[in-house]
Amino acid sequence: QTLTRPLTSLPPADLETFLETQRMAYEDLKARGLKLDLTRGKPSVEQLDLSNELLSLPRGHKDGSGTDVRNYGGLEGLPELRAIFADLLWVEPAQVVAGGNASLTMMHDCLVQLLLHGGPDSPRPWSQEESVKFVCPVPGYDRHFTMLASYGIEMLTVPMHDDGPDVAAVRELVRDPAVKGMWIVPTYANPSGSVVTQEIASALASMDTAAPDFRIFWDNAYAFHHLTEDEAKSADIITLASAAGHPNRPLMFASTSKITFAGAGVAFLAASEANVKWYLSHQKFASIGPDKVNQLRHVQFFGSAAGVREHMARHREILAPKFAAVDAALSSALDGREVATWSKPSGGYFVNLDVLDGTATRVVELAREAGIVLTPAGASFPHGVDPRDRNIRLAPSFPTLDEVETAMAGVATCVLLAAAEKLAA
Ligand code: PLP
Repeated sequence: QTLTRPLTSLPPADLETFLETQRMAYEDLKARGLKLDLTRGKPSVEQLDLSNELLSLPRGHKDGSGTDVRNYGGLEGLPELRAIFADLLWVEPAQVVAGGNASLTMMHDCLVQLLLHGGPDSPRPWSQEESVKFVCPVPGYDRHFTMLASYGIEMLTVPMHDDGPDVAAVRELVRDPAVKGMWIVPTYANPSGSVVTQEIASALASMDTAAPDFRIFWDNAYAFHHLTEDEAKSADIITLASAAGHPNRPLMFASTSKITFAGAGVAFLAASEANVKWYLSHQKFASIGPDKVNQLRHVQFFGSAAGVREHMARHREILAPKFAAVDAALSSALDGREVATWSKPSGGYFVNLDVLDGTATRVVELAREAGIVLTPAGASFPHGVDPRDRNIRLAPSFPTLDEVETAMAGVATCVLLAAAEKLAA
């Protein structure tokens, strides 16, 4: 039956009929005059409301040790907040810095310090090397790639699988001494939703690298952002690397941007004590201390690591139905057609949609003309170029559930129309 057969198996006449039907469906979609945006992974207003108590905190202006948070000082952050996140990230409080409002800034600071000064184990600053290259699992986070591009760092891609990056490919690349680092979003990756297994983390922690100061930028932005009760545990990269004799290899980042207020939370760096000392030794020239008032209100709001976990369960109640709606809409329109696959993440903020090769740009264009704004095709690849033009990142967190349902049914229509156009061409 034409209705459920793979598009590639339709005889030309049936494909033409199918194309006509999709054109009509698309015209109907356009006529609805939608105005929907699924571009960025932002928390919804309902999620932000979960943290409104922060707006009337802190109570008082002293932390547990009597420090007056209204004044300068304490570059490494408030001890109580560092202890809560050390517990969550499985490290010692001395291995955690509680910083400013953005983990991306901490990643950028680390990168720039490595370029200008080198790390504790660098023979020379990275900028004095002939070239600097990074391993980039793809699809990945666009801002990681644009950060490297802004410093002229060459990006070498490896596939990101369900269990983490392709380790054999990584091992091969790190034989080049110019390869100084790699990105990885280990838990519910942006955008694939993959979770790096303990085995893969262990391989990355212990592999031989030609660069003695190789760094894994372990961006654990979604460490606690579960969508099901089956909560993935992040691999303990810092212990693994230390046990393998490479204690300074990982630089772990996290933040409360998608726990409390996006861009108005607290960011964290976790690493070996040598790395923490190194980071602060340069950071002291840039800051007299972080916003401890904000840190104190976060301490009071969460109370403990358990408080953070309970808070995340409330986010899950809001987010899980939206992710279920994405899957339901795509399944109902695309199952059996064999023109798209998509992730069914158990955490994080994204659904990764792979459409028929060579049609992602067209799908995004069709969607935009129908009033549904999607992240530009290719955004999850270095320099915005997806060699297969098939990858689209969907971010269902911000719109309402109704809007997600409407938008995804529309996206499915665009996927089918673009595929039929291509196959009929
Ligand atoms: N890292 C990843 C993987 C992200 O997806 C995001 C935001 O989308 C960030 C970092 C930004 O974090 P922050 O707000 O702490 O800078």
